[in-house]
Amino acid sequence: MATDALSERLSSKLHLQTKTVGEERIRRAKEKDDDVAFCTMFSMDGDPTFKCCLGKYCLIGDPKKTDPGTKKMEYKTRQWHEKCFCCVVCKNPIGTKSFIPREQEIYCAGCYEDKFATRCVKCNKIITSGGVTYKNEPWHRDCFTCSNCNTSLAGQRFTSRDDKPYCADCFGELFAKRCTACSKPITGIGGTRFISFEDRHWHNDCFICAGCKTSLVGRGFITDGDDIICPECAKMKLM
Ligand SMILES: [Zn+2]
Ligand SMILES: [Zn+2]
Ligand SMILES: [Zn+2]
Ligand SMILES: [Zn+2]
Ligand SMILES: [Zn+2]
Ligand SMILES: [Zn+2]
Repeated sequence: MATDALSERLSSKLHLQTKTVGEERIRRAKEKDDDVAFCTMFSMDGDPTFKCCLGKYCLIGDPKKTDPGTKKMEYKTRQWHEKCFCCVVCKNPIGTKSFIPREQEIYCAGCYEDKFATRCVKCNKIITSGGVTYKNEPWHRDCFTCSNCNTSLAGQRFTSRDDKPYCADCFGELFAKRCTACSKPITGIGGTRFISFEDRHWHNDCFICAGCKTSLVGRGFITDGDDIICPECAKMKLM
């Protein structure tokens, strides 16, 4: 009976990631300046409508304070004291530099990248340009390697076992069934068909009569100890 069970195992798919979410956002922040706040100075009359967005966390200590000559920052409908308009992580003032708003929080590009950029599951470093995704986890192309020989698997056929990826060669060497006749692995790659009989397996091409060497694929055969033989050779042997 021929079976293709192994070739099904080889269908693991690797998804190429073109861009990560964080990367795209950082690029936009760097290239465009729509996420830039306006800086103006409070006038002598102060500004009765002003309220610092940090509220009780206002760094000046009073969100309504509008000392003439000090500065305020405005972004969309929100306002801050100049000093209060800073990155939530590193607390460095943003000023009129570009920044990345996320919900109510303001990040400098560096901290945003640190916090939200995609990180490789292997080396934990940020993936800046096109990594790969395997089982929903991001990897650098160079980090996604065979668990046995460490060659890069990006763009290669590979298969996995216990969630670890292996190149086709290593997988064959380590885990595949071996052919009874030639003892090379039966990988199933390229749809190689093979013959299984009881506990033994053969490459299609190796499934031949031990006597006359003709192919036994699709024919009746007789086992003779470790050998398989065709009915004609079996008859000869009995005579
Ligand atoms: Zn403030
Ligand atoms: Zn920061
Ligand atoms: Zn990596
Ligand atoms: Zn390998
Ligand atoms: Zn073989
Ligand atoms: Zn024969």
